[in-house]
Amino acid sequence: MYISIKTRKRVLLVYILASWPCSIYGRVVSNCSLGAMNYARFLTAVSAARKPSPIRMLTEIQQRSPPSMISLAAGAPNPNTFPFHSCSIQVKNGDMLTFDETMMKRALQYSASSGIPELLTWMKALQKNLHNPPTANYSAEKGKMDMCVTTGSQEGLCKVFEMLVNPGDNVLLDAPTYSGTLAALQPLGCNLINVPSDQHGMIPGGLKEVLSRWDPADVHKPHSTVPRVLYTIPNGGNPTGASMTTQRKRDVYELARQYDLLIIEDDPYYFLQFDKPWAPTFLSMDVDGRVIRTDSFSKILSSGLRIGFVTGPKPLVDRVVLHIQASTMHTSTFTQLMVSQLLHGWGQEGFLNHVDGVIEFYRTQRDAMLSSADKCLKDVAEWHAPAAGMFLWIKVKGVADTQKLIMEKAMEKEVLLVPGGVFMINSSDPCPYVRAAFSLSTPEQIDEAFKRLSALIKESL
Ligand code: PMP
Repeated sequence: MYISIKTRKRVLLVYILASWPCSIYGRVVSNCSLGAMNYARFLTAVSAARKPSPIRMLTEIQQRSPPSMISLAAGAPNPNTFPFHSCSIQVKNGDMLTFDETMMKRALQYSASSGIPELLTWMKALQKNLHNPPTANYSAEKGKMDMCVTTGSQEGLCKVFEMLVNPGDNVLLDAPTYSGTLAALQPLGCNLINVPSDQHGMIPGGLKEVLSRWDPADVHKPHSTVPRVLYTIPNGGNPTGASMTTQRKRDVYELARQYDLLIIEDDPYYFLQFDKPWAPTFLSMDVDGRVIRTDSFSKILSSGLRIGFVTGPKPLVDRVVLHIQASTMHTSTFTQLMVSQLLHGWGQEGFLNHVDGVIEFYRTQRDAMLSSADKCLKDVAEWHAPAAGMFLWIKVKGVADTQKLIMEKAMEKEVLLVPGGVFMINSSDPCPYVRAAFSLSTPEQIDEAFKRLSALIKESL
């Protein structure tokens, strides 16, 4: 079935329903190889079975259409019936974000699943400036790389995992790791394989050793058990605070090439690196198109607005967008427009100035926590100063497992911390670590908390 949409200057022909895979959008999606990479090999059956939503596709077309377009297509509600009229939001620097009546109607309406164009354009320029990915050519049809907006980076991660991880697959990661990653991966029924790591992140020699269980010659054999996916948090790791050195990233990337692995670079603390220049990312080294990067505005603009991004090879980003079409449909138009207005007002320089201010805050907080730890915990614990993020990973000496200490005794003394076990692949394995966040508490509160923790540790020895 064809729908033909006439505008003054052009006729848009959209071929939908029965032959959808041959449509404009379907053709882009089904092209699953770029250069040497064969992305079809990485897709799960669930992801491969996803089809573009004809209705969502029309929303994308409508978004790009001139006002003269008459749309009888969309099943969108009429925003005139909504109770909101307009709004203005004062930015701390005195700027105003204004949503007049027209803008408000747009903000309250459905929008494209990949994200609103002006936010994507801004982010692509930033991404290019920060990472200059070797395979990037963001021009829509020819581009090898693409981006989409997600509802926080958590949504992006979940969807990337669902796209790439089949039950029984071997997945590589450096645990302890973010509990939200474990929560997303474990129900997929995969085998999580721990790659050794230390305060400088994943250890390439350890990865090499783990991978030596398989022969690179078997990678492309049918039913191969060679892992296809490696996940890591490269900066200010949650919970460890570890940041990976550039050389380690290069070595890991080389191993990924040897075994044809995709690297999932989950980097929500990228903007919270305390020292400049910021470390080169996996994305910046990605000559093959084997890196999928998740970014987040949660730590620098707002966690409640829920804005994150997936950047990666276009055939894979397209798959994530198909999943978004079928689930959330899109990240809130309102919050995207709000952030987009802010960013366009600031420009990249203004944004990076703001980030510098945020870094300054967290650096001061980190230093306060390190000095309290030095004062209160020196005899009973060990740690490494994090170079990014918001966490201190503390090893309690002489305590095999911190679960009881933290969940019972510390709580009784009104100190909340996270026992390290929750970040381990097997959460019931004994873990002598504790995660302390320096994001919210004042230096005085941190000091008091560590005094109480120190007393509890001494009591339990
Ligand atoms: N990855 C890591 C490592 C995190 O620590 C977090 C948040 N705690 C996320 C992803 C998710 O962040 P968000 O969805 O808020 O962007």
